[in-house]
Amino acid sequence: MPGFEIFGDEERKQVNDVLETGVLFRYGFEGARNGHFKAKEFEEKLCNITKAAHSHLCSSGTAALCTALAACGIGAGDEVIVPPFTFVATFEAVLSLGAIPIFSEIDETLCLDPDKLEDVITPRTKAVVPVHMCGSMARITEIKAVCDKKGLILLEDACQSIGGSYQGKALGTFGLAGCFSFDSVKTVTCGEGGGIITDSNDVYQKVDQYADHGHDHLGGPDRGADGHPIIGTNFRISELNAAVGLAQLNKLEQIIEIQQKNKYAIKDAMADIGDVTFRFIPDPKGDSATFLSFFLPTEDRTRKVAENLAQNGVGCPYWYDNNWHYLRKWDHLKQMQRSGKLRSELYDNLPDYSNLNLKASDYIIKRTLSMQIMLSWTKEDIDNRIVAIMKSFTQ
Ligand SMILES: *Cc1c(COP(=O)(O)O)cnc(C)c1O
Repeated sequence: MPGFEIFGDEERKQVNDVLETGVLFRYGFEGARNGHFKAKEFEEKLCNITKAAHSHLCSSGTAALCTALAACGIGAGDEVIVPPFTFVATFEAVLSLGAIPIFSEIDETLCLDPDKLEDVITPRTKAVVPVHMCGSMARITEIKAVCDKKGLILLEDACQSIGGSYQGKALGTFGLAGCFSFDSVKTVTCGEGGGIITDSNDVYQKVDQYADHGHDHLGGPDRGADGHPIIGTNFRISELNAAVGLAQLNKLEQIIEIQQKNKYAIKDAMADIGDVTFRFIPDPKGDSATFLSFFLPTEDRTRKVAENLAQNGVGCPYWYDNNWHYLRKWDHLKQMQRSGKLRSELYDNLPDYSNLNLKASDYIIKRTLSMQIMLSWTKEDIDNRIVAIMKSFTQ
């Protein structure tokens, strides 16, 4: 899965370009930088890949989500619908803006269920943030249809799904904005980094300003001459991180091809196992194929198979017990453990997260296992893995 598996001369060369100039900042220093604008180049490449009109690279996927939410006008008291199966960053970003995360059920795509959204929409709902989890897509056109009908902003958390698409259209381009993460374990890594894409000139302008203290970047070579049309923050990426990511992004097509090949070799071999069903993938051609996710009939059976897989050297994450990716273990959220007080009037509006009842999601996640697909597997590794998997189901 992760880009760190294929670090090489390309990354070193890009980083050396930056080190040789000593200019680690993405803006200005035009005389000294020897023509290198790594962040800018990364953004152009990301636009080419996704066909989005604009993109902006920033310091993390979490920063990308915060920036996109802010640029889309989401703020204090707004309700934002998110899934309970995601990385904690999705709800953290919503809370950090003073907005209120509202959890809605997932379906067998392991992403938000479009048919359940209307159950949680209220007059305060402002946006829906589906997460394209584990490399594959939500039923994104159906989610978009609900958003359009209800006048809600659609913002995609595609942090785990760079290179994925639905019917030929890149994930992240269905909503008003889409976000990616380029942290150290993602498909493409900058070390730390995140990206926002949008077709909206207005959203892009606000993204570009918000992530850099509100700078309008119109002051010319003197940054001090820039105006500050909005209040922002510092979510900038350094040129060193951007340089690593640029080399990685150039390898994306090759990464997806290998992941698809490795994933479907294993999936095909598992097709005849009686009690396994697979995650529903609305468009398998657009699967970035970082994980192979499958379901067992019961929680007990899932736990037993997980144990066998681990014993046989092919362990798979069991998200139901995972501290970071499923609501069940988010005690800090349920008890609202925070370092400072939220504004009290917002706090009064917060749902009681300790009493959420997401039966459909629970029923799915307690029966889900996900096998991470690696780029470095040889044909022999895959054959051995298949033998170990088969053994795990008959033990
Ligand atoms: C990784 C991830 C993020 C956050 O990205 P960082 O770059 O680590 O801040 C957000 N959402 C999802 C679904 C992720 O997997």
